[in-house]
Amino acid sequence: MRTLAPMQIYMLLPKTNCGECGFPTCLSFAFNVASGKANVFACPYLSEEAKRKLGEALAPPIKLVTIGVSEAAVKVGGEKVVHRHEDKFYSPTAIAFAISDTLSDEELKEQVKTIENTRFERLEEILKPDLIALKGASGDSERFAQATKVIVENTSLPLILCSFNTEAIESSLKICGSKRPLIYAANKDNLEVMAELAVEYKCPLTIYEPKNLDSLAELVKKAKDVGVEDIVLDVGFRDLKETLRKLVTIRRLAIEERAREYGYPTIAFPGLAVFKSDSLADFWEVTVAASLLIRYASIVVLNGTRPWRILPLLVLRQGIFRDPRIHPRVKPGLYAIGNVSENSPCLVTSNYALTYFTVKSDIEASKVPSYLLVIDTEGLSVASSVAGGKFTAEKIAEAIEEYKVKEKVKHRTIIIPGLAARISGKLEELTNWKVIVGPKDSSELRTFLRKILS
Ligand code: SF4
Repeated sequence: MRTLAPMQIYMLLPKTNCGECGFPTCLSFAFNVASGKANVFACPYLSEEAKRKLGEALAPPIKLVTIGVSEAAVKVGGEKVVHRHEDKFYSPTAIAFAISDTLSDEELKEQVKTIENTRFERLEEILKPDLIALKGASGDSERFAQATKVIVENTSLPLILCSFNTEAIESSLKICGSKRPLIYAANKDNLEVMAELAVEYKCPLTIYEPKNLDSLAELVKKAKDVGVEDIVLDVGFRDLKETLRKLVTIRRLAIEERAREYGYPTIAFPGLAVFKSDSLADFWEVTVAASLLIRYASIVVLNGTRPWRILPLLVLRQGIFRDPRIHPRVKPGLYAIGNVSENSPCLVTSNYALTYFTVKSDIEASKVPSYLLVIDTEGLSVASSVAGGKFTAEKIAEAIEEYKVKEKVKHRTIIIPGLAARISGKLEELTNWKVIVGPKDSSELRTFLRKILS
């Protein structure tokens, strides 16, 4: 990742050490900007020249592009590294369901409803589709516009308008242009008109060029000359290997070479890899989509709305776009598991997500309704947090008070993990509660909980 050195940033700052940016000196501000901890525009006294230079130099090499408006808007791009371990990936791949304008208005409404209802909860996050792609398969501009109208009246999800027909795109933009849909797509034949439409309606524009990356760069340059700022790249799809090669090359050129013409998010249509008549078409489409998601597609468009296909992709995306420097965690607090009462046992664990969900499912398997007090260990497991001084008697005592455990149970007994046995004495001292040391492995909770209740 190329960026500016602190001294290069410092040289462009006013050097008055006024402190208004929240840092005592311009130099310390420069160091924090360079390490990504501060926004350079927090300095209110930058000259116009410094703003321009710093803005250009510090912008992510892949432009952040927004599709849609308000809360439902989707941001793609904004990436700074080729490999996640170098920093993190910033914008999760947006996943779209594609529907065709050949469907009747009623069918379109049904499909939109299905997309709206496709949602899954995992690791305290709601996973769902991000976009709807409307395919102009009818070839009829009026029908395309009417289908656009039906969709925007029934959802706030951002749209991708898919047609190479400039009249169809224009008629659709008249209906939804203010909602900032992604125009798909400009190619070598229609680029000028599509680019003008994108500028007029202030919408992002996809540039489609399957031939080669040089030709793609030429089209990008032409679109920029017309005034298009927000661009999405489509390299087409002949075969998976070729598409992946192009996506990886674009990412490398944009980030490692700072080649501006490739510094945009990308879109891919994995359904083009399969024959609809294939009985395993859905399976192959998801498999190809997963490969594209792993190798830098910023937007993946799935055919149709069958909800099951999106789940593996959402789970994969959740893993890839998690910050590798932050352990997955759940919110600290007191969780009721099962039909609890004031006599239910109360156990303690860490807020590392995997630990929490494992302990929770082991308690559920025991069929003993219980309270689970989750303390903030900064996402570390019990073993690591005990060793690192983050799973302590003091923290548990504080959590008992903070989450009002005494109001939930009438007993004064708490069960700590076997791996934290060494804090039991201190915890008893601090709380005057009876401390029971549970098993080291939560899979033994089933037997353990039944035993202490017998
Ligand atoms: S606000 Fe600007 S001039 Fe003032 S200390 Fe910060 S960087 Fe320096």
